[in-house]
Amino acid sequence: MKKLKTRNILVAIVLVFMVFQIFRGVSSLIGSLSRKGNIIVIDPGHGGKDPGTIGINNSLEKDINLDISKKLYKKLKGKGYEVIITRDTDEYIENIQRAKLANKEKAKIFVSIHCNSAKNNSSANGIQVLYYPSNKATNNELFAQTVLDEVLRNTGANSKGIVERKDLIVLNQTNMLAIVVECGFLSNEDEANLLGTHRYQRKIVNGIVKGLENYINGF
Ligand SMILES: [Zn+2]
Repeated sequence: MKKLKTRNILVAIVLVFMVFQIFRGVSSLIGSLSRKGNIIVIDPGHGGKDPGTIGINNSLEKDINLDISKKLYKKLKGKGYEVIITRDTDEYIENIQRAKLANKEKAKIFVSIHCNSAKNNSSANGIQVLYYPSNKATNNELFAQTVLDEVLRNTGANSKGIVERKDLIVLNQTNMLAIVVECGFLSNEDEANLLGTHRYQRKIVNGIVKGLENYINGF
């Protein structure tokens, strides 16, 4: 009788261990599947004949947007996500074409990268995330706040908050979760200089990736 009990306990332990292993296998499979299924579009704003805003230090927004976007693209690819970039050279693309591409590819997330500028106010600085008011199935507002929080945490930059924008084509013509990250003010000398460095660009990228993953994984 005693022997039988010991055997039952052993069998139970082995069973629990097996179920645990199977569950671990299944959950990691779900993880990799969701990464594969979720196409992320990275959109470096402006390009070609459209320089975007021109920095107080003469830097061009289109170049900084492209540098940050390429780093973001590489980082997400390295983590196993399916990523599309709307331009990887200095070329002009209409905003409507960027939105159409994301819709055609059935992307799940659209992140447009821009830099800000303030007229007659060289002291304005900080990071802002723009989003389309959520009448879509997706919660753009929460996504915007989640990304902003992590970019601020990584950069130590000033918060310019999240802002509803109905008028931006890359937000109102895209069918998926979509935000514009305004990475800083090129009209502010300190921030313009920071935005030109790889170190600061990497901090922004790390923040965007962390925010994106927090949102996808539900915190
Ligand atoms: Zn811009």
